Amino acid sequence: MTIRSDRPALPVLETPAPVIDDPRSPAAPAAELAEYGTESAVLPRFHVWTLGCQMNQSDSEEMAGALLAAGCEEAADLESAQLIVINTCSIREAAEQKVIGRMGVLRRLKEADPSLRVVLTGCSVRADNAGTLERRYAAVDLFLRPDEEPELTARLGLGGPTTPEGLGATGYQRVGRSVAATADGLPLTRAAAVEAGRVARSRGSKAWLPIVYGCDKTCTYCIVPFARGPERSRPFDDIVAEARALAEAGYQEVTLLGQNVNSYGHDLPPDPRFAELSSQRRLGRAQEREGRPDIAALLDAIDGIRQPDGRPGIPRVRFVTSHPWDLTDRLIEAMTACGSVCEHLHLPVQSGDDEVLRRMGRQYTVEAYLDLVARLRAAIPGISLTTDVITGFCGETEAQFESTLELLRTVRFDQVFAAAYSERPGTPATRLADDVPATEKKRRLNELLAVQEAIGLERNEAWLGRRTEVLVEEARQPRVHDHEAAEHRRPRLVGRNREHKLVHFDGPEALVGTLVGVDVERAGPYALSGRRAEEAGHA
Ligand code: SAM
Ligand code: SF4
Repeated sequence: MTIRSDRPALPVLETPAPVIDDPRSPAAPAAELAEYGTESAVLPRFHVWTLGCQMNQSDSEEMAGALLAAGCEEAADLESAQLIVINTCSIREAAEQKVIGRMGVLRRLKEADPSLRVVLTGCSVRADNAGTLERRYAAVDLFLRPDEEPELTARLGLGGPTTPEGLGATGYQRVGRSVAATADGLPLTRAAAVEAGRVARSRGSKAWLPIVYGCDKTCTYCIVPFARGPERSRPFDDIVAEARALAEAGYQEVTLLGQNVNSYGHDLPPDPRFAELSSQRRLGRAQEREGRPDIAALLDAIDGIRQPDGRPGIPRVRFVTSHPWDLTDRLIEAMTACGSVCEHLHLPVQSGDDEVLRRMGRQYTVEAYLDLVARLRAAIPGISLTTDVITGFCGETEAQFESTLELLRTVRFDQVFAAAYSERPGTPATRLADDVPATEKKRRLNELLAVQEAIGLERNEAWLGRRTEVLVEEARQPRVHDHEAAEHRRPRLVGRNREHKLVHFDGPEALVGTLVGVDVERAGPYALSGRRAEEAGHA
């Protein structure tokens, strides 16, 4: 049987009536496309288009893995695919517009090949917006919320590892005035995917390792808690088992993932192994923690995975993203004690003004943030710090923006990811006036980036003359007009050091995936470059 080219009447995404706080209630029937059928002789070539954060990249690896396990092949690009899976980001309107803007192209592709099917998933598909999706995304055949992604192959009729029935009932929980589907099933389906080798890891010698799904914070500007629901931690032993498998497979770097990795474990059942753990949160509300594992225990266990000669099984461990609210002394101690944990922390600050932070619901003050920075730098000398900032949040005055610039000058971050505030429907901030004009948000953004560019350059210049360890990620062929590189006929290698700095140097492609010593000779605001230590004659 070939793929049907007569397009069947498409199912309408059924949105079950939300059931608050009772994940055991029976689920409403899930929307299916049942397009292909396991007996199909010709399975669709697929392409996964991933937007947004690391969690989306990790989720896409799992969806691609499930499609490959079902027998499908990966298409080289969107145009040559018969099944397109779009993993969306809705953190800012621009990210959503990027996908909406492609609907015309997708419709034309479908006219040319009526068998083409499009699945839309990720944070743009939520329990609270199902009614609007078909209008906004006219070329899409099937919508899946992030918690429904493990059902992808089953819903397409490809059989597949996870049926909706296998997942059990979908839970819903109130988030503010809205409801969000809970990720109750994801810890289980992740473990099953890892166990069956159904994760199509895509980053060479680096791997994502999700540890907690969803987010319990209610930052007033943010759509994530509505899209991904409240926090659901993966069982401690499942994570350590996945890390051990990654170590055995030779991965050099693992990044623990979650919207707020620092709160890992508070929702797990108490476990006698962690009986001595108590709540250590210094900012915001107290968090029930007694007897449950935390991220410090997790880092310790992963660092404890060793090679026969005693070296760490995984040389580099990172974790992202950290909320200042949950950054405990125990975590700082674990970063100091665990040799594999990299000397880098991404610690989003969002604003340098207390009143703006209060309106954002961030639950810390500038003073508390600076105190955290001081404690991190005292404990881990040379740690590199990066952050996120939003410019032009509701009611942000010029003076409040200046306070953010002042914070940047005080902390001297290694890198800042900044964006203009973008109002997201349904978030608490929609009740505040979005009163900073778009041109002003942009002006502040550009000014902030210019200030940071100078700081970034100075921070990077401090690396001149130092040797640093680089995990090589990629070999770029020399450009024709790049005389020096062409002369040596060697590719330009690109990787990152433990402090997460991009480093460029020349060397053979065979070094991709390995750790290499590089002597830093040049520094720019966003990257370093240098020479392989071996070649400099003093390896
Ligand atoms: N969980 C992380 C934290 O709390 O810092 C961040 C996750 S969020 C996916 C990544 C970044 O997007 C945030 O740190 C914030 O700077 C930015 N962001 C979120 N909502 C935004 C909005 N409505 N407008 C502009 N930027 C936004
Ligand atoms: Fe969004 Fe705040 Fe949660 Fe980060 S911590 S995902 S910014 S709500």
